Amino acid sequence: MTVPIQVTLIEHTPEPIRSLYMAYRVCYSALTPQQVLERVEDERISEEKMTAFVEERLKTGHVSPLEQVHFEFGISGVSRAFSHQFVRHRIGISFEQQSQRYVTYRGGDFPYSVPKTVEAAGMASDMEELFRQSGDLYERMVQAGVPAEDARFLLPNATSTNFKITVNFASLLHIADLRLCTRAQWEFRRVVALMRAEVMRVVPEMGRFLQPKCGELRMGYCDEDYEAWKACPIGRKRPHKQELFQLYNAYRKGELDDLDQDDFAIIESQMIEGG
Ligand SMILES: Cc1cc2nc3c(=O)[nH]c(=O)nc-3n(C[C@H](O)[C@H](O)[C@H](O)COP(=O)(O)OP(=O)(O)OC[C@H]3O[C@@H](n4cnc5c(N)ncnc54)[C@H](O)[C@@H]3O)c2cc1C
Repeated sequence: MTVPIQVTLIEHTPEPIRSLYMAYRVCYSALTPQQVLERVEDERISEEKMTAFVEERLKTGHVSPLEQVHFEFGISGVSRAFSHQFVRHRIGISFEQQSQRYVTYRGGDFPYSVPKTVEAAGMASDMEELFRQSGDLYERMVQAGVPAEDARFLLPNATSTNFKITVNFASLLHIADLRLCTRAQWEFRRVVALMRAEVMRVVPEMGRFLQPKCGELRMGYCDEDYEAWKACPIGRKRPHKQELFQLYNAYRKGELDDLDQDDFAIIESQMIEGG
């Protein structure tokens, strides 16, 4: 049986922007946290002001305050191929995953997903036939008294699994940096895109910072290998670090051309944004 990927935001820090405002403000203010809180509560500091302040801080490398805001997600219908990668993240994230020891698939009917590339190759039914045979043998083993924890040795990477996770915002940004990158596996990209959509729903001011690392709100350039950047479908939108350094070195050596009359002709003839 195939199952779809679903990601649901279950819970989060009650007022994420206010939490981040408090965390950052305490760092930069002569006021005590109690005095900052008083100003927030009597609305001397408006929601708009808190949001603007936090958005500016989000552009900086001061990351530790972001650990003070957490998001809880329910994630279902993901493959064990995905979950092996997901649980490699060690910092700022806690996982609970459906057990294949305590859960026995009745009748050998385990949930799974079939990648689109397999469908496109016309091999989905072959794959599903193999899964059906594995499921039959799994069931026979269980009936013969083999515990689920051993019968599961038959199950493929495609077997679906479920998570309940808690992740802080610093860690979520890091995960998005890596896993929204087109170098990441499609399933991981999909899960993180769905997490991003969930965060956008409740706190878009923070959600929009969940970008691949090359995004304009993150590093702004690509640090993958050059060939991968050239092959990336969004590579042309973001510079590669090698090109940035080439430009910088040329500038340092005085090799960059000065603006000339042709450039001024462009300046005069084009519509320039904000001009
Ligand atoms: C495109 C891609 C391909 C990959 N391919 C492979 C592969 O072929 N084989 C493989 O085994 N894995 C692979 N991985 C997984 C990768 O090696 C990491 O396990 C994964 O990215 C999670 O680790 P992290 O350090 O990024 O994040 P986290 O574990 O969440 O860590 C968060 C941050 O804390 C830092 N940190 C964590 N622990 C320590 C520590 N002990 N000391 C110092 N700093 C620490 C990290 O550097 C990171 O900045 C791949 C990942 C990606 C994105």
